Amino acid sequence: MDKYKFGQFSLKVQPKMKTIHELKGELANGTVTSQQLVEDCLKTINAWDPSIHAFLQVLESEAKERAAEIDKGYQQEAPQGPLAGIPIAIKDNIATVIGHTTAASKILENYKAPFNATAVNRLEQAGAVVIGKTNLDEFGMGSSTEFSAFGATKNPWDTDRVPGGTSGGSAAAVAAGMVPAALGTDTGGSIRQPASFCSVVGVKPTYGRVSRFGAISYGSSLDQIGPFARTVKDAALVLSVMAGSDELDATSSPESVSDYVAACDTSSVEGMTIGVPKEFFAEGIAPELAATVRQAVQWFEKQGARIREVSLPLTSAGVAVYFLIAKAEGSVNLARYDALRFGKMDLRADGLLERYMEARGGGFGPEVKRTIIMGTYALSAGYYDAWYKQASKVRTLIRREYEQAFKQVDILLGPVAPVAPFLFGSKTDDPLEMYLTDSLTVPVSVAGLPALSVPCGFVDGLPVGLQVIAPHFEEARMFAAAHAYEQAHNWHKQEPALSQRA
Ligand code: GLN
Repeated sequence: MDKYKFGQFSLKVQPKMKTIHELKGELANGTVTSQQLVEDCLKTINAWDPSIHAFLQVLESEAKERAAEIDKGYQQEAPQGPLAGIPIAIKDNIATVIGHTTAASKILENYKAPFNATAVNRLEQAGAVVIGKTNLDEFGMGSSTEFSAFGATKNPWDTDRVPGGTSGGSAAAVAAGMVPAALGTDTGGSIRQPASFCSVVGVKPTYGRVSRFGAISYGSSLDQIGPFARTVKDAALVLSVMAGSDELDATSSPESVSDYVAACDTSSVEGMTIGVPKEFFAEGIAPELAATVRQAVQWFEKQGARIREVSLPLTSAGVAVYFLIAKAEGSVNLARYDALRFGKMDLRADGLLERYMEARGGGFGPEVKRTIIMGTYALSAGYYDAWYKQASKVRTLIRREYEQAFKQVDILLGPVAPVAPFLFGSKTDDPLEMYLTDSLTVPVSVAGLPALSVPCGFVDGLPVGLQVIAPHFEEARMFAAAHAYEQAHNWHKQEPALSQRA
């Protein structure tokens, strides 16, 4: 596999990480070029990625070439797209024509996508420069990036701990200042949870808000592509470029896309009614973490928001419902990796069954195999009614529960995850314990709602994220609330002291 170059640990002082909005200003007034930005990113990647492993592939020459082209546009004073010259990293389960698209699986180790995902096309049309492909749990299945077939990513805040997952590579890359923004995918929390663990902003849009075309499917009724960035406003900008209907994805919504950046600029929380689900603070949530999130909620109250406790009793059913549905859909989606259509081709075995066994037995890791076994079981003739159908019914009830709540409140606030970033290896042998780390993100996914994670503090030096949840297609409201909170605090300006950890 085409790997990144191992660099020198020469960078002693972490350069101040800039936001996309700051960089856009500098590009526009000529104080910096896109080529310089790409060089800066590559320097940081070379310095830190040997210890973080956020990237599966760095697309150095492609990024440099593209940046040179964008710089020409700036010199000629041609009209520029909203992300012109901004380097961005892409999770490696999102198709890009340049480089590979492995989903961090051995079975796709040499796969090169023949097309770009629609989200990538839209970023490129807006002038973004794709700089590399980031690490993830194989096929987006996991919660810690430990299930990558190519080695785990480390948390830049504490390299003994996981960055979260499955988009751990994208979250760590932004947190370590390797890129100002990155794309992830979120099926049951894979953007929000790593954003929370790495102290960056991560957004899961409403189901259908962003085209899934070119995102390697896990749970097709749940998957969404979304951005990671240093600030809410940067994430709002990246999402506004990607969002909107796409004729290549029938599940993408025709609902019009509002101006998310403007929503940040005009944001005020005064007069908002904010719901705090009591189940999000129940037993099982680390007490210091809950206290940190409660403090964030208090800030909203001080600004003139009305706080209401709400109850979402089906929160406790979220993990069971989500994993039944996600694994069932996942098992179907994984059928195409049969070494005939997709998958490893250099097989030794003769005979169809033997070839399947060799390709799928050797090509898939443990969590993916669990998906196939659990999902196939849940969909099998004798068990379909008991498991998949039942889960689908409860899914509707969960969705209704949120709809009811949103009749009384504008947004919901709560923790993103019940635990802080955990130590490597502490949950890999106990799948259920790993699944439970998703208990506060999966109900929101099952309901198809938009939600984000915005940094709201630290407990023992480890980041904590605040989850902001909004009604379907009300991303603007979610951004407005999160931006107001972020700008009144300094959490997003904290940078991991990588030089001490390298
Ligand atoms: N941990 C969850 C799972 O394995 C969610 C992952 C995701 O959002 N892609 O299904």
